[in-house]
Amino acid sequence: MPRGSSAPTRRALIGGAAAAALARPAIGGTPPRVVVVGAGFGGATAARCLAAGGIDVTLVEASERYIACTGSNAVVAGLRGIEAQTFGYEALGRTGLRLVRATASAVDPAARRVTLGDGTALAYDRLILSPGIELRFDAVPGYDARAAEAMPHAWKAGAQTVLLARQLAAIPEGGTVVLSAPANPYRCPPGPYERASLIAHFLKTRKPRAKLILLDAKDTFSKQKLFETAWAKLYPDVLEYVPLAAGGQVSEVDPAAMVVRTDFAEVKADVACIIPPQRAGAIAAQAGCADRSGWCPIDPATFESRLVPGIHVIGDAAIAGAMPKSAFSANAQAKVCAQAVIDLLAGREPEDPRLINTCWSLVAPGYGISIAGVFRPHDGLLADVPGAGGVSPLDAPDAVRAQEAAYGESWYRTITRDVFG
Ligand SMILES: Cc1cc2nc3c(=O)[nH]c(=O)nc-3n(C[C@H](O)[C@H](O)[C@H](O)COP(=O)(O)OP(=O)(O)OC[C@H]3O[C@@H](n4cnc5c(N)ncnc54)[C@H](O)[C@@H]3O)c2cc1C
Repeated sequence: MPRGSSAPTRRALIGGAAAAALARPAIGGTPPRVVVVGAGFGGATAARCLAAGGIDVTLVEASERYIACTGSNAVVAGLRGIEAQTFGYEALGRTGLRLVRATASAVDPAARRVTLGDGTALAYDRLILSPGIELRFDAVPGYDARAAEAMPHAWKAGAQTVLLARQLAAIPEGGTVVLSAPANPYRCPPGPYERASLIAHFLKTRKPRAKLILLDAKDTFSKQKLFETAWAKLYPDVLEYVPLAAGGQVSEVDPAAMVVRTDFAEVKADVACIIPPQRAGAIAAQAGCADRSGWCPIDPATFESRLVPGIHVIGDAAIAGAMPKSAFSANAQAKVCAQAVIDLLAGREPEDPRLINTCWSLVAPGYGISIAGVFRPHDGLLADVPGAGGVSPLDAPDAVRAQEAAYGESWYRTITRDVFG
C-alpha cells in the first residue's frame, strides 16, 4: 500500500495482479474462500474490496437492512428521519460477493468453519469478523435489555433511536433529561457529547425550560475543549455537565421510577438515555478472539487476531490501539485488512499500512467540529503518527463551523455510498 493512505494498495486497486495470483488453484484445487461476518461499515467494506480483488467471498449479515449510528444523534433531536440512516444491501449483492442473510452462531477455528443459525456450515480459508458491539447489560445495576425499553441507550441505531426521539419529543415543559456516558473504550468516543449537544439544541429551541444533565464516567473526553466552548456559548442554561470527579458515574438505575443514581445524588428523569459499557459483538467472543477486556486484540498490520490464527477482526470489536471505534476507522481497517488477506492468500508479505480517521460532530445545525488522526503499526499496536492529524481550531468564526457541519454531512454521503453502493 502506498504509505500515507488508508485506501487499498495499488495492487488491489488495479485488481488484475491480485486476481491473477488468486486465480491459481489453492490447496486441494479450490480457490481460497473468505467469509466475512457483519455487513456494517467494516464488514461490508472488506467484502467489497475482497470481491474486487477476485476473491470468493461470502458476507453473512443478520439484519435485513443496515441502520447507521453515524448521524443518528440528529434523529434523536428530530433534525432528520431514521430513513436517512437506512441502507439496503441490494447494491452490495451486485459486486460479485455472495450475501447470506443469517446470523453466524458459531465459529470452529480448528475446522475453519462458520455455522449459521439454521445449521448451515460455511468453510473458510480466512475469516473476517466485523460484528460491532454488544451492550454490557450486566455493568450498570438495574440496567438490562428490559430497562432499555424505558431508558433507551440508542447506541445501536434503529428502534432504540426512534424510541429516544419520541420520548424527547414528548418531554414536559420544565422536564429533565439525563444522559450518561460510559468509561473508555466504547463505540464512538465523541458520540455522547454530540448527542448531549443536539439534545440541548432540541430543548433550547422546543422546550426552553427543560434541562439536560450529562453524567460522565470519566473526566476527559474527545474534542473536550471544542465541545465545552460551544456549550458555554450555545447552551449555558440548558446543559449541566457532571464529570467523574464530581460524581458523574452512574451507580444504579430504577427504570420503573425513572431514577438515575450516582454515588452522590439521585436524579428523577423525564427522559433517561443510559449508554452502558460495551464489548465486542458476541460472535467474536464465541470464536475465542476476545480477551478479558471483552475486546479483540489484533496484529496492527493485518488485523489478524492475536488469539486465533486465520481470523481477522476489524471495526469496533477490535482493540486498535490509538485508533478510535468509528465508522471511518472501520472502513479504513477493512481496506487494510482485505488487502492483507489477499496478500496472505497469495503467499505475499502484507505491507506496512497507514490508516486515517476523521470524525465530525454536530453541536448544533450548521455548527460542526472535527478531529483527525493518522495511525501506523508501532510496538504491536496502532499508534498515532506524530505531527499528523489534529482538531479543528478552538477560536473559529461561524463560517468555519458551518463549513465543518457541511463537511460532516458530505462525508456521511460519501462513506455510506462507498460501503453500501
Ligand atoms: C450515536 C452514534 C454516533 C456515531 N457517529 C459517528 C460518526 O460521526 N463518525 C464515525 O466515524 N462513527 C460514528 N459512530 C460509530 C460507528 O457507528 C461505528 O464505529 C461503526 O458502526 C462500526 O462499524 P462495525 O463494522 O465495527 O460495526 P457495525 O456497523 O455495528 O456493523 C456490525 C454488523 O454486524 C452484524 N452482525 C453482528 N453479529 C453478527 C452475527 N453473529 N451474524 C451476522 N451478522 C452479525 C450486525 O447486524 C451489523 O450489521 C457513531 C456511533 C454512535 C452510536
